[in-house]
Amino acid sequence: MPRLEDLTTFNPFIIWDAHVHIGRFQDIYFDPIQIALDLISLGVQRWVVSSTTLCEGIGSFNESLGEFDAMESVALGCAIPFLWVVPEMVGKLENYIEPRFRGLKVHARAHRWSPNGVALQSVARIAAERNIPLKLHTGGQLRCDAGAYYKLCRNNVNTKFILAHGRPVDQALVILKECPNVFVDTAFMPMDDVAMLVRYDMSDRIFFGSDYPLDQLFYPDESLKTRYRNSLKELQNVVPNTIFKNNLSRCLFE
Ligand SMILES: [Zn+2]
Repeated sequence: MPRLEDLTTFNPFIIWDAHVHIGRFQDIYFDPIQIALDLISLGVQRWVVSSTTLCEGIGSFNESLGEFDAMESVALGCAIPFLWVVPEMVGKLENYIEPRFRGLKVHARAHRWSPNGVALQSVARIAAERNIPLKLHTGGQLRCDAGAYYKLCRNNVNTKFILAHGRPVDQALVILKECPNVFVDTAFMPMDDVAMLVRYDMSDRIFFGSDYPLDQLFYPDESLKTRYRNSLKELQNVVPNTIFKNNLSRCLFE
């Protein structure tokens, strides 16, 4: 099987998605095989995926590995797993970062992470040592608004950070301007916000993220795939196709 690094030849029409979920979420189960089949049928070539099952705690770690295995059985190298880091892992995080994990994710709305605490510092340091990005959920609470991570991003220049959702956008913009090691994914971002980042010359720091299939929670009566296609179309009106792949590739593999 080709290595991911060999597959980064530029093609502006190929979609890379930086934000996908599998696993249990509230009372829904996002089946890893079905999600992979959906994405393949939508023409997505690579996708970053994390398991919401693991969000429940460290006891769900092995179960989440099974979900990644199931996805891989049809994704055949297209899925790029990120490890959902829960606070219980701190101090022994290395034990959980299997080679399959190409990035880490921290969700400070789901778990109590202090943006400037030693625990998150240690996660950022390990991400830098392994040269894998650290994705941070942003928005919804002061402790995880983008601005809360300004110091973390500025003080860890060797860590690549992804501000998922880029919320609120004015705070995300400040960090992007000050910190070349920071990227934003567009999951659930209003197009006006994406357009604003582009206007401020941040086109090379944004990548497409869908949060697929979480739309199912908010739009249960709509076709997920139709929503996906429509959001891509909207985004293509605002930014060049090239951001879908190039920026994410740079963040993951350089
Ligand atoms: Zn998400």
